Amino acid sequence: MRYYSTRNGAGNVSFAEAALAGLAPDGGLFVPEEIPPYPKAVKSSLGSMDYRDIAFETIKPYVRTEIPDPVLEEMVHSAYPFTAPLVPAGDRLVLELFHGPTAAFKDFGARFMARSFAFLRRGESKPMRVLVATSGDTGGAVADGFFGVPGISVTVLYPKGRVSPLQERQIAGLGANISALAVEGSFDDCQRLVKAALADEDLRRRMVLSSANSINVSRLIPQAAYYAAAAGRAEAGRTDPDGEATPRAKGAAGDRMQGSGAVTFSVPSGNFGNLTAGLYAMKMGAPIAAFIAATNINRTVPDYLESGEYKTRPSQATLSSAMDVGAPSNFERMSAHFSWEEMRRVIRGAFVTDEETRKTIEEIRRVHGYFLDPHSAVGWKAADKLREAEGLQAVKAGGPLGVLSTAHPAKFAETVEPLAGPVPVPAVLAKAMERAADSRIIPAEISALLEAL
Ligand SMILES: *Cc1c(COP(=O)(O)O)cnc(C)c1O
Repeated sequence: MRYYSTRNGAGNVSFAEAALAGLAPDGGLFVPEEIPPYPKAVKSSLGSMDYRDIAFETIKPYVRTEIPDPVLEEMVHSAYPFTAPLVPAGDRLVLELFHGPTAAFKDFGARFMARSFAFLRRGESKPMRVLVATSGDTGGAVADGFFGVPGISVTVLYPKGRVSPLQERQIAGLGANISALAVEGSFDDCQRLVKAALADEDLRRRMVLSSANSINVSRLIPQAAYYAAAAGRAEAGRTDPDGEATPRAKGAAGDRMQGSGAVTFSVPSGNFGNLTAGLYAMKMGAPIAAFIAATNINRTVPDYLESGEYKTRPSQATLSSAMDVGAPSNFERMSAHFSWEEMRRVIRGAFVTDEETRKTIEEIRRVHGYFLDPHSAVGWKAADKLREAEGLQAVKAGGPLGVLSTAHPAKFAETVEPLAGPVPVPAVLAKAMERAADSRIIPAEISALLEAL
């Protein structure tokens, strides 16, 4: 597969080049030359295949000839000892993406990315530095994914005081080849600093640089797999039993699946990597009817879908902090593949306030015995708001409604517990809380970052 830049179509690079570079030289994002359809036999058995096999089939065409099949198979097996259960809650399905080691969906992308980097750089002697800007969960997932990988070190930039204490421990508690910078600014500042550092000729001469943000194709593509797996099961009218980390109150019934057919997914979105991966899965042939682009008050994309005008703005802090993004980086990739009209045919946007987020967390726990984290609550509520406005009917023909749950509620206990009571804590989070965070504070200036590197 060849990859091109979103900016001027420049590039024509391999998967290895696109993944290891992160950003295209012209500042654009790499996109594959095509989004290949699943083979018929795969498409018709998405509802019954093992998660690892779906991940293998999803990623394979994008890395063809560069990562041999047996290596890819080994990678997906070691990356995904956990899966993404689709569990019923109330009148919908929750796609739980938090059963990995950092309890957020970013484990799916980061764990594959780290393994592919290690393989693609085999035999290289010059060490590599991976830069990553995080609004909370990316940093932890990337740190965990790359921890102990020889020849690669990671620097995580996060907005000081805007991530939870647990997230900070996940980012800055590992040490060894992982270092953390607490930036005096917003997530957008962190992202800007990473982009500037990657473009810095001087720095590039000194070290091999890459970025691990969701702009990286090696993180994006594996995320398409959980959409395909969940859509296949929803279409077949099947759900999964609760897993170890499923945050359901004792004794609460799981409810039953309502209907079958092509699913509509509500996707809590910030940088829009997750939703873009969903669009890839749909284009590959996964039985998906539509998407809901669910945001907090950082409503750049819902406004664009409504008006056709794309206006970025400074990000505003909310309860769903991992979605506090005013200038979503993957929008450039979405619009490289789809026009406004095409997006509107399959995506409806809705934004949710903090007040609505709180009410949703409280209500879903009280009525259905299910705990939502603030991000997933945005996804849940956005679907309700569209339903009330009847906008959803325009894109959805009566199939099941799925909400992506992007993080475990125990990661945001300080918000969730006052509203919903004590949240059961999964083992991986209890372990992370025991670590001490060790980071360096820097102002939001490129000179400070360059000096730290
Ligand atoms: C990163 C993140 C999001 C936003 O995902 P994007 O791919 O950036 O749109 C949503 N929820 C949680 C918990 C996250 O960590």
